[in-house]
Amino acid sequence: MDILEQALTLELKACRHDLDKVMQFFSRKPLTKREEESFVRFALQYLYQLEEQDSYSVIAGLLRWLHDYGTPDILPELEKIKPILPPRKGLRDYRIDASELIAHLQKKAAGICECKNKIDFGTSPHIDMFEIVSCVVHSEEYYSEYVVRCKRCSSEYKGREEEGYHYPVYRWN
Ligand SMILES: [Zn+2]
Repeated sequence: MDILEQALTLELKACRHDLDKVMQFFSRKPLTKREEESFVRFALQYLYQLEEQDSYSVIAGLLRWLHDYGTPDILPELEKIKPILPPRKGLRDYRIDASELIAHLQKKAAGICECKNKIDFGTSPHIDMFEIVSCVVHSEEYYSEYVVRCKRCSSEYKGREEEGYHYPVYRWN
């Protein structure tokens, strides 16, 4: 059985050592419905059984994957996984990413565009989803004002970028 077949049949132990290969395979598009569903199951199982040596980039990759392919029926499982995700010292806690993912799937279930979720979690305006309508830089006061428009649903949002200690902070109205 090759590594992909092992991933599809949720053989986590076998996949652990070759996870890069698995991730690469599943990042290619398009996937069949079966592959999509299998990898959602795989990602959930993996997050359930995290081991101390698992790298943060793997956790982030799996969460991103669930963001794109997860469906609202995995919400109960995500609620269980969230508290066992590791906090990262001095960095953004992965449990926040899990909360964001949960909010995203709840909105998906309610038919609300994903842009609302991004805005609620203080997204940067410089993501694919948004078109920047205007940007006014106030260099003396260390902030910039943005108006962005969602390319999917045309909602517009106004906000400001403030220079934070490590990275910019975004506040949206
Ligand atoms: Zn939108």
